[in-house]
Amino acid sequence: MEIRFLGTGSAWGVPEHSCECFICKRMTELGEERTRTSFLVIGEESILVDCGPDVRRQMLRLAVQRPDAVLITHEHADHFLGLDDLLAFRRATPRDAWTLIPVYATEMTWASVEARFGYLVGSLIDKRLAVPERPLEGLRTKVRPFKTLHGPTAPGSVGYVIEGKGDPGIVYTSDFIGLDREPEFLFNPDILIIQSHWLNEPERNRPHHMSFQCAIEYIARWRPRRATYLVHVSAGDHVEGDSANNSLGKWRPKAPLPEPATGRPYPVPLCQADWQRLVDGIAEDYGLPRPIFVARDGMVARF
Ligand SMILES: [Zn+2]
Ligand SMILES: [Zn+2]
Repeated sequence: MEIRFLGTGSAWGVPEHSCECFICKRMTELGEERTRTSFLVIGEESILVDCGPDVRRQMLRLAVQRPDAVLITHEHADHFLGLDDLLAFRRATPRDAWTLIPVYATEMTWASVEARFGYLVGSLIDKRLAVPERPLEGLRTKVRPFKTLHGPTAPGSVGYVIEGKGDPGIVYTSDFIGLDREPEFLFNPDILIIQSHWLNEPERNRPHHMSFQCAIEYIARWRPRRATYLVHVSAGDHVEGDSANNSLGKWRPKAPLPEPATGRPYPVPLCQADWQRLVDGIAEDYGLPRPIFVARDGMVARF
């Protein structure tokens, strides 16, 4: 089985356009970029999870072929606005040979997706319903959605558990701030892919995202057996001494994650290498299941 991380960034990508903060400047210097979060699982079937506005460029970069199915987690633009770009697969297919691509989302999410892309239903995509905790119908791969809380602007949000026959199981939580209930199938997955929007939980969590500081509790409780991957990383952390800290996209930390030995906050990571070094250190200090990888765009994991 293969997981191709097409994008690993937050809603506006990182570096953020027009942003002069230390994080965006450092990433620009290094030529690093995180496009909108999306990944492809290639196992018994190939399944695209979320389809944001960067999907055309992401698919070109990683030579993605027509997926067998698409899973949409919720109705925010960074998770579904690329659906129209899948028309490329139809355009390249011989006349009369085209079959629709099944796309799954909850009923509430479909209300937004269909309002925008109703013209694709029945010509490009086959509208399929995702019902929390019920296996998706019409796939060979066992996929179970589970309800996630992502605030009032995305009430139909779900994560997905993907278990291909003989493949390691994946738990994926996209944008979320918590869960109403945690079904037993979330515990001890082989692989956990979890949002890590900031390092530190901000004073005010808007619009309802998961910081690494809070994700630690899920990693410790769900205990993935093979690996954890962090995605949906933003440039929203406050960085000591940065004059851009007063911009609207930045939030002061509530109570920054302390290093257990000294009680001092960990330094905020600016780039990929900083993030990975930091997460390795925190995993060791807090006794978390390892390895934890900070996913980067274009990363391919094979199991
Ligand atoms: Zn998002
Ligand atoms: Zn969202």
